[in-house]
Amino acid sequence: MAELNPFDIACEQLDDCAKILNLNEDVREMLKSPMRELHVSIPVRMDDGRTKVFKGFRVQYNDAKGPTKGGIRFHPEETIDTVRALAAWMTWKCSLMDLPLGGGKGGVICNPKELSENELERLSRGYIDMIWQFMGPNKDVPAPDVYTTPQVMAWMMDEYSKITGSNEFGCITGKPICVGGSCGRDDATARGGMFTIREAAKELGIDLSKATVAIQGYGNAGSNAAILCRDLFGSKVVAISDSQGGIYNKDGLDIELACSVKKDTCTVVNFPKDETQKISNQELLELDVDILISAALENVITKENAPYIKAKIIAELANGPTTPEADEILFEKGVHIIPDFLCNAGGVTVSYFEMVQNIDRYCWDVEEVRKRLDERMTRAYHSVLETSRAYNINMRQAAYVVAVNRVVEAMKIRGWIKFS
Ligand code: GLU
Repeated sequence: MAELNPFDIACEQLDDCAKILNLNEDVREMLKSPMRELHVSIPVRMDDGRTKVFKGFRVQYNDAKGPTKGGIRFHPEETIDTVRALAAWMTWKCSLMDLPLGGGKGGVICNPKELSENELERLSRGYIDMIWQFMGPNKDVPAPDVYTTPQVMAWMMDEYSKITGSNEFGCITGKPICVGGSCGRDDATARGGMFTIREAAKELGIDLSKATVAIQGYGNAGSNAAILCRDLFGSKVVAISDSQGGIYNKDGLDIELACSVKKDTCTVVNFPKDETQKISNQELLELDVDILISAALENVITKENAPYIKAKIIAELANGPTTPEADEILFEKGVHIIPDFLCNAGGVTVSYFEMVQNIDRYCWDVEEVRKRLDERMTRAYHSVLETSRAYNINMRQAAYVVAVNRVVEAMKIRGWIKFS
């Protein structure tokens, strides 16, 4: 999935932050060390009667601020280094949002597109059979991520509940609403990102009703971002893409049609041709648009393409889309990056709301969820912006400063490290 090792990138970003905060070597070492990693082999009975073994991971990175929290990815090219990096980023994400949670991530090496529904269910339950002792509402709470869905979460919650002999709805988030899911969780990642784009546009004096948008990635985050850019701001979405390639129309795309083409054919490239041209993922990144939303995978914005990016705002709905070299180039060009663990924090924020509702056995309505999400995203955006100005650092460095500071404070108070 990634040529660059994502955990090396996560450590490089952390070192950069440690320098700014003047953290000592012991603290840096702790922050760079995942607290616990599980490597599991999951035997799954396939429909043809054979048993296939799938490799999976769960990394509980740091729980100084509370139970670890983070999604599970089902991906054929999953690696422990990617999961480890994503678990680190979850730690900073939860901290930046001021949630009483630590960070974790899981992954299974598999291609869900090649599994039948029954095989997918057995794999989902099998993963929980392997990690259940180490998870739970007070330990580690998984959620959806790349190629995992509310249905997968429901099977996992059911398996955990069966093993523990009690209805533990709070053991996992991103569940369907009828089994303890939260209203507003489905589009929370994209909606949270929209609140940060709105604030950034105000800062930069961009009129969103006249803005053009290109979106790389058309999964849950990307497709909801397209709908919300249009519905909340009246912006024109001129380009979208997925792993097969992209489509472009300078007058704006028909978002509903794009969603139904994606649903029916698994890719947006089958969009009917009239006035819409096919473009590559690379071309999409370099389009002359106001806002570029990266909603695909990690390491797509690199030192090779960064010099050609023309967008004024890059909103990172994906985790880790920009390499450190690209970061520097874009900062120098004056591109305003809304860094991943700020921009895409809406998902985990509503997951946290889901946990709170599960504990209370009380359901909020969708307006309540959206209002609280807006408050949290807006607050986090401005704390990052103010920090970037106060320290004269870029938005990613500022997000790290805010997030890491809070984790270090919790580690100190808990007595894990000495006050210096
Ligand atoms: N997978 C999402 C993320 O990367 C959500 C995690 C969660 O809800 O725990 O933030």
